[in-house]
Amino acid sequence: MPSKYRLRITTKISKRRSVKGSRSEYRKFVPYAARRVFIHELGHYVADTINHQLYGMRSVKGIEIYKSPSLTTDYEGETKITSEGVRPFKPTQRMLPAYFAALAYGCIFESAYLDMPDMLFCMDNHGRSDIDKRNDFVKDPTIKQALSGATDAHYQILVNSNLGQYLQTMIVNKFVRNGNTDRIQINISLLRTELSSWTRRHASSYIRFVNELKRIL
Ligand SMILES: [Zn+2]
Repeated sequence: MPSKYRLRITTKISKRRSVKGSRSEYRKFVPYAARRVFIHELGHYVADTINHQLYGMRSVKGIEIYKSPSLTTDYEGETKITSEGVRPFKPTQRMLPAYFAALAYGCIFESAYLDMPDMLFCMDNHGRSDIDKRNDFVKDPTIKQALSGATDAHYQILVNSNLGQYLQTMIVNKFVRNGNTDRIQINISLLRTELSSWTRRHASSYIRFVNELKRIL
């Protein structure tokens, strides 16, 4: 990995720690941290929505952003899929490319929003569990590398088409359904309405990405 990326990541982490040190600064920091998690979950939401419409996979039931019990991160999030919890989600071999694309979209959106040159920071932090879920199905290091390469290439395409700027202009507050900042619930029906035309326009690029993953698998 090029060392300049490492340097950039280290700077980000130390900045976050110093902000956490002050009580008043911390209060200002909370909405920002929750917003970043919202954007990450939004990436999963967009991919899951297209997967539902085009690949017959299950739809999104809800998004929750909650205060993390861990000391290393402020907030965590979860995009819940219909009937999850009733039985564990096991994608079939045919569904794997779309499933992997949806796992990747959390870090794709988050990294574009943070204006990162790549997705490494996210994959080492909030996106760790997404990578672990993918690796439950892929053991071959050559295939893993090819999947990561295709994901990086897709990330660069989206960054060049101004995904980051689009996400930075989103008004996150209007999608929040409750007043509890420790456990924020997102209004999915409003998200569906507001995001539908963007998601429709984005579908062709998404399909190309899924097809590329399919070619590797
Ligand atoms: Zn994720």
